Amino acid sequence: MTYVVTEACIQCKYTDCVTVCPMDCFFEGPNFLVIHPDECIDCSICVAECPVGAIVSDQDVTPEQQVYLELNRTLSETPGWTRISRQKAPLPDHEYWATQTGKLALLKQD
Ligand code: SF4
Ligand code: SF4
Repeated sequence: MTYVVTEACIQCKYTDCVTVCPMDCFFEGPNFLVIHPDECIDCSICVAECPVGAIVSDQDVTPEQQVYLELNRTLSETPGWTRISRQKAPLPDHEYWATQTGKLALLKQD
C-alpha cells in the first residue's frame, strides 16, 4: 500500500504535504509532486495537509486516477526529479489551476 499524488496537484504544487512526511518521500518535478511508493509508510498524515485533496490511498484511486499509480513510481525515479522536504511558494496561478480538471496533458515529466 502507498499514497499517490493525483491530478489536482498539477500546476499547483502547494507543497504543504512535504513538511509533514516522516519519510521525506516526496519528489518534485517542474509542475507536480509524486510520492515514492517504496518509501511511503502509509501513515496518511500528508492527506489532510493537501488543500486540493490531491493525495489518495492506492486503495481508493478512481479509474481515472489509475495512471497516477505508475506516474508516482516512474517520476520519483526519474533523473531531475528531486526529493523535497521543505515547503516553498506554490506555482503562479495556482488558485486558477486548483479548480481545473483535465490537467494530465500539462504534466511536465522532465
Ligand atoms: S499539498 Fe497537494 S497540491 Fe501541494 S504539493 Fe502536496 S500534493 Fe501537491
Ligand atoms: S502517507 Fe506518510 S509516508 Fe506516505 S507520503 Fe504521506 S506522509 Fe509520507
